Amino acid sequence: MNIILLGAQGSGKGTQAQLLKEKYNLIHVSTGDLLRETTDEKIKQQMKEGKLISDEQIIKLIKEKLSGEEGAILDGFPRTLRQAEALDEITHIDGVIELKLTDEEALKRLSGRKTCKNCKTVYGTENPSKKQGKCDKCTGELYQREDDKPEAIKKRLTAYHEETEPLIEYYKPRKIVHTVDASKSIKEIFANLCKIIEELA
Ligand code: AMP
Repeated sequence: MNIILLGAQGSGKGTQAQLLKEKYNLIHVSTGDLLRETTDEKIKQQMKEGKLISDEQIIKLIKEKLSGEEGAILDGFPRTLRQAEALDEITHIDGVIELKLTDEEALKRLSGRKTCKNCKTVYGTENPSKKQGKCDKCTGELYQREDDKPEAIKKRLTAYHEETEPLIEYYKPRKIVHTVDASKSIKEIFANLCKIIEELA
C-alpha cells in the first residue's frame, strides 16, 4: 500500500509518518530528510532559502528509493504536478491524505520545531523533548532547521499553496483523497489517519 501525506510545513506529516510506519510496517520516505543528507552545495543553498529542488533530481531520487519496496508513506513528495505524473509511472497510489492547517498555525509550529540530527525525530511545543536539546529516543543533538526561520518558512508556504495544494484536484477524480484536521493533537490526528488507512486496506 502506498500513501501520500500532503500538507503544509508544520502540519505534522513527518511525525505521523513515523507513527504510521511502525504500526503498518511501511517504509517512510521523506524527500526532505533524504535531501538534508546531500553534500551538493547548490541543493543545500536552495533548501536553505526554502526553494524547491528540480523535478528531475527529485524524481530520480524517489525512483531509487521506491524500487523493490512493497509499501511506503510518502512525506514531502510529490510536491508538483510533474512529480505526481512521474510517480504514477513508478507505482500505484492507494490513498492521499491531506493534513489541513492554517498558515498562521503552521508558522507558529515551525518556529518552535526542533529535529534530532541523528534519528530525525521531530519535537515541538506539543511534544517537547524531556531533556532540553537532546533526543528522547537516541540522545542525539536537537537543532532548528535553517529553513524553519521566518523568511524561508514564508517561501515554503507559498510554494505549498502554489505548487502542491493543486495536487488535491489532480487526485480527486480517483476518489482517494481524504482530509484530516491537522490542528488537532498528535494522538487525535493519528487515530483519524489509522481509520482512513484501515478503510483503504
Ligand atoms: P521538507 O523537509 O519536506 O519540508 O523539505 C525540505 C526542503 O527540501 C524543501 O523546502 C525543498 O527545498 C526540498 N524538497 C523536499 N522534497 C521536495 C520535493 N518533492 N520537490 C522539491 N523540493 C523538495
